[in-house]
Amino acid sequence: MPAFTPTVHALAPTPGPKLIIHGGAGSSLTGPGAKDAIRKSLHHILDTLYARLAGGMSALEVVIQGCQLLEDDPQFNAGTGAVLQSDGQIRLSAALMDGPAQRFSGVINAQRLKNPIQLAQHLQSQPDRILSETGSQALTRALGLPLYDPLTPQRLQEWVEEQLHGQADGRPALTNLVTATDQHYGTIGVVALDAAGRLAAGTSTGGKGGEYVGRVSDSAMPAGTYANTDAAISCTGIGEDIVDECLAARLVIRVTDGFSLPAAFEKSFAEAAGRGRDLGAIGIDRRGAIAWGRTTEVILAAYHNGEGLGDSLEG
Ligand code: ASP
Repeated sequence: MPAFTPTVHALAPTPGPKLIIHGGAGSSLTGPGAKDAIRKSLHHILDTLYARLAGGMSALEVVIQGCQLLEDDPQFNAGTGAVLQSDGQIRLSAALMDGPAQRFSGVINAQRLKNPIQLAQHLQSQPDRILSETGSQALTRALGLPLYDPLTPQRLQEWVEEQLHGQADGRPALTNLVTATDQHYGTIGVVALDAAGRLAAGTSTGGKGGEYVGRVSDSAMPAGTYANTDAAISCTGIGEDIVDECLAARLVIRVTDGFSLPAAFEKSFAEAAGRGRDLGAIGIDRRGAIAWGRTTEVILAAYHNGEGLGDSLEG
């Protein structure tokens, strides 16, 4: 069961590049070695990315590359390893936001490609910046990206079991609009502040799993991914709850209006918990503060503040 208790952690601002990544939020990790496996992946990707950030790479480029690395890790529900929707198809959504330009781009329900964040990257410089299913397929072809099946045996098995036994919250498969709350791990997100003080955020997902065909995830909306020159945010959790809170934009605008990043998280997560929302977020502000928050039992997040690496996985 979700906790719906607001929990916020923050690191004080320090100079220099900052990075935080997430691999979703939900109920506590069970299963032998689950936490260690997630931690190992998050730390490895964080180390790789922070070296690039410290070497002078822009926040936007680090976010793109970070999303790709996380999309390629089959443990996460994005790119390879994404969950299946009610019709047994995988549809991928991803968004990118460049803080200095305050420019959003994204794709919704893209199919048969490896890295949906690549489409969001391309769309950053286009006059049309958010594409849904048909448009994203045409763009995949136009960019010459190879056709790719992101299905893994484990995700197929999970989907088959849901069809046979209904979802873990007891409701039957195919009629369920909200997946079991103990399953919604795996959406990925990256937020970075580079040496030049630029912020960027990206999020990529296979959705909630088992959703109606055509359902739109928060990840490719400003509710789930948002950045300006003051702060950058990536969200995870039940997309409908994130949209209802307009969480990413709410957090960023609070910082712009004078809240510190931790105070913006405290207030926004207290409000969200009060309304029974099931969600989490990571963020960085322009002064170098890092924060993450959740109303779920856990958020799978890891950060590098220039002095060292840490994560939200207790124990
Ligand atoms: N927010 C995603 C969605 O609802 C799912 C997740 O973050 O796990 O599509």
